Amino acid sequence: MARTKRKAAKPPKRPARAEVERAVRTLIQWTGDDPDREGLLETPARVVRAYEQWFAGYAQDPNELLERTFEEVAGYDEMVVLRDVRFVSHCEHHMAPVIGRAHVGYLPRHRVIGISKLARLVQLYARRLQIQERMTAQIADNLHRVLRPAGVAVVVEGTHGCMTTRGVNQAQATMVTSRMLGVFRDHPETRQEFLSAIDLRGGLRSGTGSC
Ligand SMILES: [Zn+2]
Repeated sequence: MARTKRKAAKPPKRPARAEVERAVRTLIQWTGDDPDREGLLETPARVVRAYEQWFAGYAQDPNELLERTFEEVAGYDEMVVLRDVRFVSHCEHHMAPVIGRAHVGYLPRHRVIGISKLARLVQLYARRLQIQERMTAQIADNLHRVLRPAGVAVVVEGTHGCMTTRGVNQAQATMVTSRMLGVFRDHPETRQEFLSAIDLRGGLRSGTGSC
């Protein structure tokens, strides 16, 4: 069933819930199991509800989320670091879970932001189909655009289900990606201060992550 139609410019209309449940039923059949077996009867509905949580990020707007920034920095000119923000994402190549943590830092210039917003910004981009490199860049770029700080640093560590549970079966492998902007990019000592603050095991290496 090769489709030759060109992709529409706008995202296609979302299918009805019943249609998605039928698709899950088809997947169950594809595994070789019986979707009418008692234990599986409610599974399509449950899967759809789980998808609503895993992909809730599409309904959220980063501009709205970051709207209320707190103007006064009250002379505070040191780095702000939030580390170990746990996230669950899904890789866009296999729709397999990517589980990890993000570390976000910035050096304020005019504005600071509520710390919970940083965590919610991570979740907003995690709850979409992603590649880890893009998610890392999106978190950093949006923070930089809204806060206009002296710099932004984001490091993301992720364990990719498509790599740990199938394929090369590398259960322990973690991918590390980073994006450094402003002073974190230009000043090695500022970057090092951030990396020390997040205490990254094994140092920083960049991911080359196709999965
Ligand atoms: Zn994958």
